[in-house]
Amino acid sequence: MRTIFAIVALAGWSLSGSAYGQACDQTIEGNDLLQYSLSEIRVSADCGEVTITLRHTGQLPVNAMGHNWVLTATADAEGVVEAGRNAGAPGYLPEGDPRVIAATNMIGGGEESSVTFDVSALTAGGDYMFFCSFPGHYALMKGQFIIE
Ligand code: ZN
Repeated sequence: MRTIFAIVALAGWSLSGSAYGQACDQTIEGNDLLQYSLSEIRVSADCGEVTITLRHTGQLPVNAMGHNWVLTATADAEGVVEAGRNAGAPGYLPEGDPRVIAATNMIGGGEESSVTFDVSALTAGGDYMFFCSFPGHYALMKGQFIIE
C-alpha cells in the first residue's frame, strides 16, 4: 500500500504546471481548408492566466486565408464577426471592442501568434466560444471554450 501511495504522489507532482490535468498553455492549429485542429478547448479556472497559441499550418498568405483566434461569450460571437467584417483588413476585428475577451493577431500560412489572458475573471461553466473572424471563416472555424 505504501508503494502505491508513493506512485500516486509522484504522478500528482508531474501534473504541476497544469491544474486538474488541463494545460494552461495550449496550441491550436489552423490550415488552408478552413479547419481548426480543435473543436473545443478546456482550461481550469485555477490556471489564472491562460496562453493560447494559434499556428497556421497552411501555405496561403494572410490576405487570402487569414486566421486568428478570438474568444467571446457565445452570445456575442456573431456580432463580433459582423463588426470584424466592417473593421476590414488586415485584422478583421473591431478595435477596443469590450465583447472581445482575447484575440491573437490575424496570421497567414507558416506563422503563429499567441495571446495570454486571465480566465479568473470569466465564469466557470459559462458559455464561451472561439472562432476566426476572417470574412466567411466563422461558419467552419469555431469551437467551444470551456472553463472547468
Ligand atoms: Zn480564418
